[in-house]
This record gives sequence, C-alpha cells and structure tokens, in this order.
Amino acid sequence: METGPGDGARALLRILRDLPGEVGVEEPLAPHTTFRIGGKAFALYRPTTSDALGEAVVRARAHGFPWLILGGGSKLLVPDRGFPGLVLSTAALRSWHEEEGILRVGAGVSLARVARRGAWKLAGIPGTVGGAVAMNAGTRYGAIADQLEWVQALLPTGRLHTFSLDECGFSYRDSVFRRLRLPVVAVGVRLQPVQDLSPLLAERARTQPQLPSAGCVFRNPSAGRSAGWMIDQCGLKGMRIGDAVVSERHANFICNLGRARAAEVLELVDEVQDRVARRFGVWLRLELEVVGE
Ligand SMILES: Cc1cc2nc3c(=O)[nH]c(=O)nc-3n(C[C@H](O)[C@H](O)[C@H](O)COP(=O)(O)OP(=O)(O)OC[C@H]3O[C@@H](n4cnc5c(N)ncnc54)[C@H](O)[C@@H]3O)c2cc1C
Repeated sequence: METGPGDGARALLRILRDLPGEVGVEEPLAPHTTFRIGGKAFALYRPTTSDALGEAVVRARAHGFPWLILGGGSKLLVPDRGFPGLVLSTAALRSWHEEEGILRVGAGVSLARVARRGAWKLAGIPGTVGGAVAMNAGTRYGAIADQLEWVQALLPTGRLHTFSLDECGFSYRDSVFRRLRLPVVAVGVRLQPVQDLSPLLAERARTQPQLPSAGCVFRNPSAGRSAGWMIDQCGLKGMRIGDAVVSERHANFICNLGRARAAEVLELVDEVQDRVARRFGVWLRLELEVVGE
C-alpha cells in the first residue's frame, strides 16, 4: 500500500518551502553514495545558492533535525535504517571562474574536473571540491590543502566567512570544516600547469578495486606500516561477510559485491580491527565516515 511522507519528512518540507532548489522527500541515499549502500533520508535538499544552504542549516538546527552535508558521497557509509533528518546536497553549487591562475569554484564541482584543469596531484579522487576540502583529500603526491588560496564556508550563524589557510586547521584527512561541520560553499584553487593524467589514472585503476566502495576504510597510523599492509599481513584480503568483502586488490578497501548492507560492512570493519589489533597491537581508526555517528 502506498503511504505518504512521514511526520519528519513533512515537517522538513514545511521548513524548506520558501527556499530555492529541489527537495526529495524520503529519498533513498544509496544511489547518492559510491558504496551504493544505505536507507532513506527524511529529505534531501539541493540548494541553488549558498544563502539557501546556510538558511536550511539554521532552520534544521532550530527545529532539532539532524543534518548532513553531502558532496559526492564517496567517503560515506549510510546506515541501513537511513538518516532521520535533512541531507543537504551541494550538487547545484557549481560556479566556475578563473582569473590570474586562481580557479574559484563552487563546492559541488567535481574534483576530477579541477584536477584536469590544473591540480594533477588530486587525479583519480572521486567526489566534489567541498568534500575534498572537508576531508583534506590527497594522494601520495600531496593533498588539496597544498593548492588552496582560501575557503569560503558558512558559520553556525549562517553567515559566510572566507577562511585563510591558517584558519582551515588542515591535517591528515581532516579540517576544521569536517570537525565543526561548517559547510564549504566555494574555494580558490591555485592552478598548476595542465598535465596528462592518464598514467596516474592507469596506476590507480591497476591498484584499486573497481567495485563500489568508499575508498580507504581505515586511516594510516601516524608511524609505521600502512593500514592496508597490516590487513594484508593478517591474511584478510577476500574476507567476506554477506556481500561486503575486503578487496583482493587493495586490503584497505571494503567493497560491495552487489547487495551489501551497512551492518555487514561494519561487522567486517570490527573483524579487521580486531585481527589487526591482536597481531600488531594497533587499533585501526576509521577514515570512512559512518553517517549519523
Ligand atoms: C574509489 C575511491 C578512491 C578514493 N581515493 C581517495 C584518495 O586517493 N585520496 C583521498 O583522500 N580520498 C579518496 N577517496 C575518498 C573520497 O573520494 C574523498 O574523501 C573525497 O574527497 C570525498 O568527497 P565527497 O564530495 O565525495 O564527500 P562526501 O563523501 O559526500 O562527504 C565526506 C565528508 O565531507 C563532508 N562534506 C562534503 N561536502 C562538504 C562541504 N561542501 N562542506 C563541508 N563538509 C562537506 C561530509 O559531510 C562528510 O563528512 C576515494 C574514494 C573512492 C570511492
């Protein structure tokens, strides 16, 4: 039997009514993530301006709804029960302006496009510019923080602030935007000469799985061997729970073989942490972001 939206979704529709942009009610989140896993959100809103994004956050807070910024969904695991709140997608924030070697882009622009234009060190990282800034995404050649001039983000009051690099609090796969949940709306990227990215992309295709995933699951410990090396040494490549599997190609990836549930991924995460702790005395910390935690 068809049922209408629940109370939470209807309340969110009411508070977003006069803001510009699309609202999806009880929207399945799996298609918005590279893992292709997870339940529905009460609502998914795609603001078309940064003001509308700020206002939606202020209203969600005022009405006591949990909220979450969604970029490309390439670092996220959405629980099977979904997210009982408002997901704010940056997909419509796609401004692009270039002047004197500085590219000023909206948070929803794909990182791949920026990499092609002049940020070769970031080649092959999926997702959006905003997500990359929040995560300080990078490769072994460098991180996005190395190439930024400034970051524009919303303060908890809904006011825009332009952060200098010193204010961004960047560290390994982390930033003030992620820690304090400040929505990034635009960034200034210092362009480097355009390069042929095909060798870098080919190397990634060779060393990373092609199945749905959310990239590296665990953070590399600050000293010593990488998380992937330790997982491999424990013989865990190919370990499977339901449709969640530790990749044969890269041990720090968990892949979705088709119908994996978030609960299966998390069970596999526990098992890997446990085995690595017993063998190496190291507790691997999650790099994967579990929505709602
Ligand atoms: C196959 C594969 C390979 C990958 N390789 C790499 C790699 O080499 N290096 C690397 O660093 N990562 C890698 N990743 C992980 C991921 O792509 C990056 O972390 C990416 O930068 C996340 O961007 P996103 O837009 O998808 O963010 P999302 O997954 O949508 O969000 C990630 C986090 O950032 C927050 N966020 C998103 N947008 C904003 C915003 N505008 N303002 C504030 N917060 C925001 C979210 O709330 C969430 O906390 C890989 C992932 C996959 C699937």
